[in-house]
Amino acid sequence: MIDRRHGYYNEGQETMSKEKREAYQGEKLSEILMHGYRHSKAIRSGFERVGLKPDAIRDLKDLEKLPITKKPDLVNAQKDTLPFGGFEVLPEEGVRRIYVSPGPVYEPGEWDYEDFRWAQALFACGIRRGDIALNTFNYHLTPLALMLDESLRMLKATVVPAGPGNISMQINLMRQLRATAYIGTPSFLMAIIEAAEGMHLDLKKDLHLQATFVGAEMFPESLRQKLESKLALLVRQGYGTVDVGCLGFECPEMKGMHIPEDVIVEIVDTETGKELEIGATGEIVATNFSKVFPMLRFATGDLSYLIEEPCACGRTSMRLGKIMGRTDQVTKVWGIFIHPWQVDELMARFPVIANYQVVVTRKDYKDEMAIYIELKEEIGDKIDLKRRLEKEVRETLKVISDVIFTAKGGIPDRAKKIDDRRIWE
Ligand SMILES: [Zn+2]
Repeated sequence: MIDRRHGYYNEGQETMSKEKREAYQGEKLSEILMHGYRHSKAIRSGFERVGLKPDAIRDLKDLEKLPITKKPDLVNAQKDTLPFGGFEVLPEEGVRRIYVSPGPVYEPGEWDYEDFRWAQALFACGIRRGDIALNTFNYHLTPLALMLDESLRMLKATVVPAGPGNISMQINLMRQLRATAYIGTPSFLMAIIEAAEGMHLDLKKDLHLQATFVGAEMFPESLRQKLESKLALLVRQGYGTVDVGCLGFECPEMKGMHIPEDVIVEIVDTETGKELEIGATGEIVATNFSKVFPMLRFATGDLSYLIEEPCACGRTSMRLGKIMGRTDQVTKVWGIFIHPWQVDELMARFPVIANYQVVVTRKDYKDEMAIYIELKEEIGDKIDLKRRLEKEVRETLKVISDVIFTAKGGIPDRAKKIDDRRIWE
């Protein structure tokens, strides 16, 4: 039996003492600041805006003297200076790939992908040398699937570049190739499992899964529990963004997400951009050490908090807690915070729901909330479902909401989960 619960991808680095880690990251930081200042127009102008030179940033604490870059800043910079916005430091031989992510954001991909943060994540989730991994992330345009593909090569695991969609094909691949690992979103894994059950397959005997790595969407605990009990294995997640790469990953202990050594993660006050004390919830801001596309203090728009207590797995890094939601979609209704992940968790308890959208409006100075629901299939007793949903919302979210059923396709693709239509004037 392969030991999937212990060990490290890079033991020396992952078990460094706090002092050693700070020294290591401080050195990496000075290098990238100097590199960016010399070769990247956008980074140099960031320094100039605050009247600083790279030597003004002596340690990790000094980082907050630099301005924060938000996604819209990157999108606008790229509109002015195509394609990479002046952030890039292109090698003479050019780049291997140009990725395109929603925004649109263009991103150069280097010839030799040496960033092993995702490999650390895959290892911590139980994937090992010799595994056959079904990579169901989208290989089309965006970087995540390809980064994971390269990382599987670092682990010496075999990859099946399946991409998303076509569930019956995925099940055939898993069976015929005896895939031992799944990589993809947790909801797609659930869809595969439901389809396999529909085909009367025995999930433990007919599939050969021994490790899973999920990511790229919120991962409610209720869904984790369902997946783990059905598959009888650990389901662990990694977290990152296309702009700055891997920022955290769970280990078997599941006590938050370990922050890899080759990135600096800060939790900041969304309004002031200043670092918050450990444990406080704020926006995740990351500085990576990419030589071709360095990002300094890039704001992810995701909310979380830091955990400092040691982890039983032996990794010594700080960890990110749960992702608490998005800075741009947290809504207050009657003074109560409503986070998209809370609504996600609630909706996950009703398998018949295909899609939902929360709409907040205001009438006569009073907030009004409605949840629009699309069902997977028509059901007989909608009134009963409406009653149960409204009760659940009242009890879990502590607000009163109307539940309205819409026709299939009534909620546009990519619609905001919480659409706040209130006008404050
Ligand atoms: Zn751990």
